[in-house]
Amino acid sequence: MGESLVISSGKGGVGKTTIAANLGIALSEVGLDVLIFDADITMANLELIFGMEGLPKTIQDVLEGKAMPQDIVYDGPGGVKVVPAGLSLRRLKKSDPDKINEIFKLFVDKVDLLIIDGPPGLEVDAVTSIAASQNMLLVVNPEITSLSDALKIKLVAEKLGTRIIGVIVNRVRGDPTEVSGPEIEAILELRIIGNIPEDPIVKKSTTLGKPFVLLDSKSPASLAIKEIAKKIAGKKNEFEPSTKSINKLMGGLFGR
Ligand code: ADP
Ligand code: MG
Repeated sequence: MGESLVISSGKGGVGKTTIAANLGIALSEVGLDVLIFDADITMANLELIFGMEGLPKTIQDVLEGKAMPQDIVYDGPGGVKVVPAGLSLRRLKKSDPDKINEIFKLFVDKVDLLIIDGPPGLEVDAVTSIAASQNMLLVVNPEITSLSDALKIKLVAEKLGTRIIGVIVNRVRGDPTEVSGPEIEAILELRIIGNIPEDPIVKKSTTLGKPFVLLDSKSPASLAIKEIAKKIAGKKNEFEPSTKSINKLMGGLFGR
């Protein structure tokens, strides 16, 4: 049985999808069977990063009985598998209260690690993706606004029993206006698991529809991602197993 890991952030545009995609591949390269659940339908850009836009069947089709769960697992680049949500988690939840739980369980049991690329912020969709996951990587940029939003996510994660295994500081340029690593750790009271530099390979990679860890495995961003993947693979036996009841937790939070 596998574990689940949600990639979360307080605000959008900090690099969650970029990290979910490339870290997924890097983890697959160190031997884990990885499936990425693309729940960030606001920008549906995981498929873009993977160069696999317009996937024919999504969770929606499974819910409507038009497809089996295995029909919506697609082979992505670098050995990872991808499942497109194709609809908001809020709608998914409305269709059947325990559906999300069931769906995540279906997939988490079949792989070593289910990575969830969730929407940013604290709307129902984002909170659902946090509740559905046992473990979290919190992505921030070295800016104070990013950190204050991340603090709110931390509180929600604590309420929902989702374990934060570390903070990733993305788009680090190393200029003096940035919040430093020790300051970030002091503000969030969490450990940084890795820093990813600002790197032009990221934009190039999106334009070409090829993840940067495959495009140039020696680029600064790729080296940083591989470093993080090694740490995560080493920590995997510390991950929380999938046992939570999402509906109970969500009910507590949204008064349902
Ligand atoms: P999110 O999923 O959090 O909304 P994205 O992964 O879509 O964020 O990234 C937002 C933008 O930032 C994208 O245009 C992406 O190419 C860019 N980006 C992310 N990380 C880096 C980086 N380390 N260096 C340069 N650009 C980056
Ligand atoms: Mg995204």
